[in-house]
Amino acid sequence: MEKINSGATAPDCIFCKIARGEIPSEKLYENEQLFIINDINPKAPVHMLIIPKVHIPTLNDLEDSKLFAEIFKAIKFITQKMNVKDYKTLINTGAGAGQIVFHLHVHILGEVSKI
Ligand code: 5GP
Ligand code: ZN
Repeated sequence: MEKINSGATAPDCIFCKIARGEIPSEKLYENEQLFIINDINPKAPVHMLIIPKVHIPTLNDLEDSKLFAEIFKAIKFITQKMNVKDYKTLINTGAGAGQIVFHLHVHILGEVSKI
């Protein structure tokens, strides 16, 4: 049986605070499941974060395949919208891999296409 990630948020989590609107942040896109923001400390000309609204600490905790599909749809949607043709996607899982914020997010790193 698939566990449903049921809308839980964590009080002290920075991405939950952004999701709840407690920390203001310009959302590039938002739907019921997720939102997309620019990374506060960009490591590429384009550095966006796709963040599910539910508090899921790491990729290892993601069991909702519908949300999984939504995240991948959002990658395609936002890169087309922002005219980013070539990009890397990155999910750091665990402190040893460089995860700092323990609320699942996908990095999109790229360049804006001039064509
Ligand atoms: P991680 O290393 O956990 O995969 O990445 C966390 C990312 O979140 C980092 O690239 C960091 O710059 C970004 N970040 C941390 N706090 C904030 C914030 O308050 N706002 C935004 N937009 N990005 C943040
Ligand atoms: Zn959270």
